[in-house]
Amino acid sequence: MQYISTRGGAEPLGFCDATLTGLAPDGGLFVPDAYPTLDPATLQSLAGQPFETMAHAVLSRFAAGELTDDELKADIDAAMGTFAHPARTPLVQIGPNQFILELFHGPTLAFKDVAMQTLARLMDRILSQRGRRATIVTATSGDTGAAAADAFRGRSAIDLFILYPDGRVSDVQRRQMTTIADDNVHTLAVAGDFDDCQRIVKALFVDREFNERVAMSGVNSINWARVAAQITYYLFAALTLGAPHRKVAFSVPTGNFGDILAGYVAHKMGLPVEQLIIATNQNDILDRTLKTGRYMPGRVSPSTSPSMDIQVSSNFERLVFDLSGRNAASVKERLADLSGGFELTAPELAEMRTLFSSGRSDDEETRKVIGEIYAETGLIVDTHTAVGLKAAREAKVPDGTPVVTLSTAHPAKFPDAVEAGCGRRPEQPERLAEVMSSPERSTRVAADVKAVADIVLERSRAVAA
Ligand SMILES: *Cc1c(COP(=O)(O)O)cnc(C)c1O
Repeated sequence: MQYISTRGGAEPLGFCDATLTGLAPDGGLFVPDAYPTLDPATLQSLAGQPFETMAHAVLSRFAAGELTDDELKADIDAAMGTFAHPARTPLVQIGPNQFILELFHGPTLAFKDVAMQTLARLMDRILSQRGRRATIVTATSGDTGAAAADAFRGRSAIDLFILYPDGRVSDVQRRQMTTIADDNVHTLAVAGDFDDCQRIVKALFVDREFNERVAMSGVNSINWARVAAQITYYLFAALTLGAPHRKVAFSVPTGNFGDILAGYVAHKMGLPVEQLIIATNQNDILDRTLKTGRYMPGRVSPSTSPSMDIQVSSNFERLVFDLSGRNAASVKERLADLSGGFELTAPELAEMRTLFSSGRSDDEETRKVIGEIYAETGLIVDTHTAVGLKAAREAKVPDGTPVVTLSTAHPAKFPDAVEAGCGRRPEQPERLAEVMSSPERSTRVAADVKAVADIVLERSRAVAA
């Protein structure tokens, strides 16, 4: 299987190279040249199997011919072994045909652990096989940095540098990054905001000389291996609820369109999905796009579900590529410069609406849902999950269709907003208690490209002496 760029200007790569490269050199995103399939008999045979078995069935189809079954199995087992629940992503019923898929039992209590734990091990394996090292520099507003720090800790072929805005991430999120003691994880507290962090990372990426010297690699949500790893839990939930004989709908709290794209790919692979509900907070670019056909980035408005405070949904490009009939020229023309937004054509919008619907929830509505769910079921859900639940309640699905809302974070990650909603403070899991009491380690740095570059050059083991 080859991976091609959505903008048509990059050499096709195999799975391993696409995983190490992240963003395609022409600015596009890698997608498989054709989606692999899981036929009904295969799906049937996977029903009831452990999560790891399903993950292997999915990933082996994307990495065919590049990584052996044993290699994939070893990395998947180790990655999912970091999860504190034996089902890995347990499904909880909250009402007739209403379910929550708990994706937050990993080390940093958010859904990003599923993909990041897998990706870190795959990258480390691929690099080690090639006798190479890499440097990852990433900007975070919280959850991505925490998930990456835990996943990449101690990986021998990789140094990880995380840039976060000093004083602007939550206590829990900062501690999840800064309490990692392994010396290949470097946390940099940047005197600026998240946009400054992102600007610095982008500048380093396009600096050819620097990029090559430190062998820079990317792990943000556009990395195809992350999307692939997320497909598994759609299978897990749907098969548990009667697929392939029954269709299931999913409500997905989304920002970058990464999580929900995995559901779309699961559908393309043969999983019978009734509907994918895009759930946004007040940063509702995706909800507006589905309603009007016009994708128009606005200004980010901070919300109580901060991991979805995004105005440019990078992974949406992959869907547009398919909707356009895989017309790379048309994607490039419309998406290369997003400052003025772009339009979906009428056929593209109609096609999108056959599978997707959408809903939005502002902070007040989110707070209300947290209170209602607690009153109805005794369950305490986090703000991101509540955004998903609101959209799930309002979605129109055929009678008898199970609706699964993806629960992307543990409520203890956002305790204040959760308490404001249901009047109870979520209990702190043991993993979090540890993080809250361990010593922190972080380097303060100016919001300046050269200052960050100097630190990376000094510390990265990928830099040739
Ligand atoms: C990252 C994140 C999301 C959004 O995921 P996307 O892949 O950007 O759609 C939702 N909830 C939580 C808790 C997250 O950390």
